[in-house]
Amino acid sequence: MIETVSTPQIWEAALGELQLQVNRPNYQTWLAKTAGLNFQDNRITIGVPSTFVAEYLEKNQLSMIERVLSGITHKPVQVHFQVMTSHASVQAKAVNPRQGTLPLFNPKYTFDSFVVGGSNQLAFTAAQGVAQNPGSYNPLFIFGGSGLGKTHLLQAIGNMALANDMKVVYVRAEEYTNQLVSALKDKNTEEFRNRYRSVDMLLVDDVQFFSGKTQTTENFFHTFDELHNSNRQIAVTSDRPPRSIPALQAHLSSRFEGGLVADIESPDFETRLAILKEKTREKGEEVSLEVLELIALQIQENIRALEGSLNRVLAYAKLVRSMLTPELASRALKDIGGNTLAAAPPTPKLIVEAVVNSFQLTPFDLRGRKRDEVTALARQVAMYLMRQETDCSLAEIGEELGGRTPATVSHAYQKIASDIQNSPTLRRKVTFIQQEFTSHSNHKTL
Ligand code: ADP
Ligand code: MG
Repeated sequence: MIETVSTPQIWEAALGELQLQVNRPNYQTWLAKTAGLNFQDNRITIGVPSTFVAEYLEKNQLSMIERVLSGITHKPVQVHFQVMTSHASVQAKAVNPRQGTLPLFNPKYTFDSFVVGGSNQLAFTAAQGVAQNPGSYNPLFIFGGSGLGKTHLLQAIGNMALANDMKVVYVRAEEYTNQLVSALKDKNTEEFRNRYRSVDMLLVDDVQFFSGKTQTTENFFHTFDELHNSNRQIAVTSDRPPRSIPALQAHLSSRFEGGLVADIESPDFETRLAILKEKTREKGEEVSLEVLELIALQIQENIRALEGSLNRVLAYAKLVRSMLTPELASRALKDIGGNTLAAAPPTPKLIVEAVVNSFQLTPFDLRGRKRDEVTALARQVAMYLMRQETDCSLAEIGEELGGRTPATVSHAYQKIASDIQNSPTLRRKVTFIQQEFTSHSNHKTL
């Protein structure tokens, strides 16, 4: 899941959570002026304004920050602080439409790192055309299934435009909607309007999200026309073609069709193999052709799953400390159930079920007011697992468990995360519960 999210977005999410965990002056002094710069191989680089801040954070908040990041990315994360040079902070400016302080493009998403094959040739060529020669097709509409490289291409356009000193804004349609809603609430639509209408290039990801949102589409339609009429480039992505987005006003879908519509299909075997080679190279790993072929044969539906399997296989080989042979790779893929790699995360309901079974309680106990030791522990474990295994927010988890506050959930998460470090018994119990609901959700998705 996380491959699609840029470092600044991950860091922004982490800051949201850290804000709940430290007091306000502390947050303002040490965390507010930081930026997520780079995230590779479980190592995230956080830009800080001075060595003083770096030292303070390193000494006092490192483990908390790493825990929060692991919770968000679902894997262990190592944090590295880097003092932002004036160059980095200049670069970090211009781009974030919300705050104007953080970079929003994932530097990994470039045309160079995009593997071209029959399935994505048209979209790639069109995207490159638009980046090199803005206005050539306006708008560019890229559509295709999940995990096939739409965000990658859109950000590649952005990265190139940025390098050419254009004022470019990237936004997910969902974020655009949220920003508009809060602008309307705060009676601050003027600022919102200027933010989007003053750009040279506007990139909107996942516009299928506009479906059925009349007020947003109406607003977006005007932004669109204003930019389009003054020859500024617009590129959007969607999981389906313009006309298939349900409840999207006809005037907007016909605008979307007015430039170039390019689709991305599932990659063929050769392309999947080429992508695996590229990803292996990016990671600086050596993997035999045989193993890569095996993965490319087994994982067909999308590139995110392909990358996920490669990571699994590499991690598995490290875990059992042996040579990465085809046999080992095939075991690693089997252990995690082949196609279930792309499976949806478990639902909160499944987690509740597994937890209450293990603690011999009922869902009612977990959601109710009982506070005896066992119930309290079970509840905290449920919160921890939901945080760890689902995409639910702290607030949603609190709701699931009988209306607990986000702060309570966050505290429970911290507590269990640290308790399982110290108590093998608790660790085993939590692992056991995890296996319970993982096998359940696998049965469902297979
Ligand atoms: P989408 O937005 O279509 O759901 P993404 O752009 O997020 O998909 O792609 C998912 C992952 O697959 C990303 O890590 C991306 O870099 C990678 N990816 C997709 N297509 C390609 C490609 N042709 N070459 C290299 N990597 C790719
Ligand atoms: Mg995407």
